[in-house]
Amino acid sequence: MKDLFTTDFKNAPYWWDAAPLTESAGGVMAPSYDAIVIGAGYTGLRAALTLARAGRSVAVFDKERPGYGASRRNAGFLGRTLKKSYVDLKAAKGIAYATAIYRDLSAAYDGILAFIEEEGIDCHAVRCGRLIAATSAAHYAVLERELAGMKADLGLPYAMVPRDRLREEMATDLYDGGAVIPDLGSLHPGLYHRGLMTRALAAGVAIFGNCAVTAIEQASQGDRFRIITAAGATRARDVVVATNGYTPKSLPWHARRVIPFVGYMAATEPLPPELLEKQLPHRRTVIDSNLDIDFFRPAPDSPRLLFGGATANGLEDPATIAALLHGRLARALPDLADVKLSHVWTGQCAGTFDMMPHIGCHDGIWYGMGYNFAGVPMGSFFGLKIAQKILGLPAGTSAFEAATFPTLPLYRGNPWFLPLAMRYFAWKDAKLARSGGP
Ligand SMILES: Cc1cc2nc3c(=O)[nH]c(=O)nc-3n(C[C@H](O)[C@H](O)[C@H](O)COP(=O)(O)OP(=O)(O)OC[C@H]3O[C@@H](n4cnc5c(N)ncnc54)[C@H](O)[C@@H]3O)c2cc1C
Repeated sequence: MKDLFTTDFKNAPYWWDAAPLTESAGGVMAPSYDAIVIGAGYTGLRAALTLARAGRSVAVFDKERPGYGASRRNAGFLGRTLKKSYVDLKAAKGIAYATAIYRDLSAAYDGILAFIEEEGIDCHAVRCGRLIAATSAAHYAVLERELAGMKADLGLPYAMVPRDRLREEMATDLYDGGAVIPDLGSLHPGLYHRGLMTRALAAGVAIFGNCAVTAIEQASQGDRFRIITAAGATRARDVVVATNGYTPKSLPWHARRVIPFVGYMAATEPLPPELLEKQLPHRRTVIDSNLDIDFFRPAPDSPRLLFGGATANGLEDPATIAALLHGRLARALPDLADVKLSHVWTGQCAGTFDMMPHIGCHDGIWYGMGYNFAGVPMGSFFGLKIAQKILGLPAGTSAFEAATFPTLPLYRGNPWFLPLAMRYFAWKDAKLARSGGP
């Protein structure tokens, strides 16, 4: 295999260069807190910050250093859609439900940008627009139908880009045109997470890194829960599970409901600025229209291209992941066929059996998870909503909480069926492409 790596190659997220993980010891563990949060990603930290600012004593526990999860590993795309199509959701569950869900998605999207601005978090948050590249003429037709449906019911803007104009958006001939959503955004996930963490600490949240929660028990008196951690036991009135794709088997009810899957990403070496500009002249984020997406974006803070795809292929070796991703890069953007990669990394996302994110309370324990690749805005949104619920605020309601949280018989959190599911997605994409349209 030809050497794909730069001499300073790192098998770690590109984002950690600007926002390295830091230790967080949390101080002396108190015998009791008002609230305990498990998982120090966007969901957990946003919940903790909101609770602490409302005067509650809060401790956050993470099994690893805070930020080790997907929150400092993702692509930083900010969207307001689900894997589940709006048009299909409307057909299955009616317009009232579908619009309520998509209004919450929009609230999450607008909310994260407003929060970043109010807090002054310097994380390159921009409304750069997104290109959705159609992988076949049939996908183009489906995309147009979907976006027209969302515009009619929700007023969301879009512009179709036919095949012969695609090069105005991306230096490729791979796709059958696409669509631009002009107001979608992006950010630097590491800097956003660091900003959240700094604010949580400043608000008085105790963050215990390298300290797994191993069990949650009902307390016999006073506080409702006894929480067993790697560093000892404590108690709390409220507990929030915010572990998404890293949900441990020791939380069996939650682990049975999320499907952890691995996403892969890479960064190119620094590119000549004019070469990068030619690839994505408007500096938009790009995803393709497949169920198993490929995605591309310019780095916000250096002249590199960041990209990913081939999700859940069961790979672990960085060289194999690099070869797979590099092949996809060269296929989509042939000008970059000879560039080297400076970073390759993986991260765990969480799917769900109904492809919907879930927020709620089970046995008195709050949870927000199952973001299906939309967790940057949705994790922050669910964290806020969970805190508002705990505080008894009416603003805490969400269209997502009404749904049941399905699992499958005998499923215990070990997704043996994922390779089959990905093959099924690929087959579905190919079948649609062959069919010529919806
Ligand atoms: C490669 C990749 C690309 C992605 N791209 C995007 C994107 O562009 N846009 C988007 O919206 N979403 C994207 N996502 C999804 C998004 O990153 C996640 O949905 C989001 O970060 C989830 O945040 P979270 O706080 O819920 O969980 P995480 O940030 O994953 O945090 C969960 C934490 O729980 C901790 N934990 C687990 N078990 C325990 C325990 N027993 N005790 C204590 N702590 C524990 C883990 O150590 C981890 O730190 C992507 C994900 C990946 C992996």
